[in-house]
Amino acid sequence: MTLFEKIIAREIPAKIVYETSDVLAFRDINPQAPAHILVIPKKVIPRLGDAADADAIILGKVLLAAAEVARREGIDQTGYRLAINHGKDAGESVPHLHVHLLGGRSMAWPPG
Ligand code: 5GP
Repeated sequence: MTLFEKIIAREIPAKIVYETSDVLAFRDINPQAPAHILVIPKKVIPRLGDAADADAIILGKVLLAAAEVARREGIDQTGYRLAINHGKDAGESVPHLHVHLLGGRSMAWPPG
């Protein structure tokens, strides 16, 4: 089981902010912005490159959940960023697909 599967199963505590039958969102343990939330599918998809056509609906649900969490966090008007780290060069550290939702401060572009 990956770390995030253990969070889904409530074997590891997390500050959960949103949940549906398909998606879970919880605060990142090492926040990089005032709002830093990880939005994940409950289905195990290690990373975006492992997703298949059959995952199209769940991928859409993850993005829609991120937008809903942004509204609930009150950052939809000021702005936010979604990031998916894929592989070593991007700094992926947990092999369970997750979208970082970051907001509450202005951000540089391009990201480092
Ligand atoms: P990645 O580097 O794979 O894109 O993102 C993994 C994220 O998971 C990191 O931002 C890291 O801070 C977060 N993280 C790692 N361990 C835990 C944990 O036990 N609980 C929570 N809530 N976040 C974690």
